[in-house]
Amino acid sequence: MKKSVFTLLLTSAFAAVLALSLAGCGHQHSWEDATCDTPKTCSECGETEGEALGHEVSIGKCSRCGTYIAQNDWNQAMSKVNSASSDFTNVLTQVNNMLKISGLTQSDRARYVDQYAQLMNQYEPGYLRDAKSICEKHVELAGATNAIEEAINLVPAGIDSYDQAGLEQFSDEIKAYQAALLNVLTELEAFAPAKGQS
Ligand SMILES: [Zn+2]
Ligand SMILES: [Zn+2]
Repeated sequence: MKKSVFTLLLTSAFAAVLALSLAGCGHQHSWEDATCDTPKTCSECGETEGEALGHEVSIGKCSRCGTYIAQNDWNQAMSKVNSASSDFTNVLTQVNNMLKISGLTQSDRARYVDQYAQLMNQYEPGYLRDAKSICEKHVELAGATNAIEEAINLVPAGIDSYDQAGLEQFSDEIKAYQAALLNVLTELEAFAPAKGQS
């Protein structure tokens, strides 16, 4: 009899400890709503329930929390496009300088232009492909990805004939390529981080 009372006491003591531990810190949780970054969380004990909501966008400004997402990707894509763009500007400057040289025949001019065009074709598609592979990671940048693809296809590759027609061909091609590059920049700018948020 004595033994069974002791056992009973022991059991209820154990049950009480168990009940306490099940109740955690033994309070009514005061839940704070889940946010983009954090799950539903008790402000008193820090216990969480469920999962964080995740941001509304994969790049650009999150419409829920206002944070700029994937800024680094944007910076990198932009830097690659800027490399292509400044390479292009350099080539145009050199072509313009060359065209000012007097005494060159149309055929000579066309020959030089052809060399510059091939130089562009050697570097610029690479920069643009790098930019494209970054943009492809973000569904929001589908427009930019398409614009880059278009620009890659329009990089002047060289001219067909060393004469006036060849020079005109190059002139048309650089205009089309320049427009395509501007289009890429416009697409990307739409996702630019707000000024001061660097
Ligand atoms: Zn709590
Ligand atoms: Zn968010």
